[in-house]
Amino acid sequence: MAHIIDGKSISNALKEELAQHVAAMDHKPGLAVILVGEDPASNVYVNNKIKACEKTGIRSIEHRLPADTTDQAIETLITRLNDDNDVDGILLQLPLPKHLDSDRLVQLICAAKDVDGLNLLNAGALVAGVDGMVPCTPQGSMILIKSVLKDLNGLNAVVIGRSLLFGKPMAQLLLQENCTVTMAHSRTKNIEDVCRNADILVAAVGREKMVKADWIKPGACVIDVGINRMENGKLCGDIDFDAALDIAGAITPVPGGVGPMTIACLLANTIKARKQQS
Ligand code: NAP
Repeated sequence: MAHIIDGKSISNALKEELAQHVAAMDHKPGLAVILVGEDPASNVYVNNKIKACEKTGIRSIEHRLPADTTDQAIETLITRLNDDNDVDGILLQLPLPKHLDSDRLVQLICAAKDVDGLNLLNAGALVAGVDGMVPCTPQGSMILIKSVLKDLNGLNAVVIGRSLLFGKPMAQLLLQENCTVTMAHSRTKNIEDVCRNADILVAAVGREKMVKADWIKPGACVIDVGINRMENGKLCGDIDFDAALDIAGAITPVPGGVGPMTIACLLANTIKARKQQS
């Protein structure tokens, strides 16, 4: 039976550590959160992020804008926040309403305040192996992997999904730990065979229980990033969790695995941004 990696308790421990860190800081870090429109899921995510900030001692500065806000208005706001010394991190909650140019707006956030790690300068820093803002979900996933594997040198890692938000930075982090990394995606041939070679298997696709138990190498560390809503209303990941329990060495559940780590790493990035700016 696989060890179930408890992302909730690992993230709680990290948040406590971060709160102690903030308590010792003269100038408390400030995170500006921009939410455009009324998307219910985004609203929940933003509320959770703000609550987590408050608990950690981080100031949160909310900007809730109507759904018909223009690109120009958001650009003006981001420019103002970039110049505001009281703001250390800026988070533009995605997805934005369809009429807005998300890709361009995200890139307007200056690299130093880009706590989501989506600015191309930060993406480039990660590839070059120099210090920058690392996207929160891959950063959190790496903490979970290291909670069960002490030495990643030479392990075969397979990441399914190649998004800028998750798959690509995750592959870079694994490479930095000297894993042999394979990236799989929608055009990968014989993906089951590719996965069977993985000592570390990370799935970030967004397809309910796509990864079957017989795709998993016995004893592998399996990280499930996917969040899917099933017909019965419950959440599940990209891995067929119940069946995988008999094969994997360690596995993250959905919910309660990677998700809680994302917010903890957002807080960590905000503290890092404060330190770098002071
Ligand atoms: P995305 O941008 O939609 O990327 C999905 C990736 O999956 C793409 O690279 C796509 O390949 C690949 N893919 C699609 N169908 C496939 C298939 N049949 N076989 C193999 N690969 C396939 O999604 P994302 O933003 O990376 O997010 C992925 C999942 O993680 C979603 O469920 C999302 O909700 C979840 N997520 C969770 C958190 C968290 O905090 N827990 C954070 C971020 C994302 P192509 O590139 O070839 O199209």
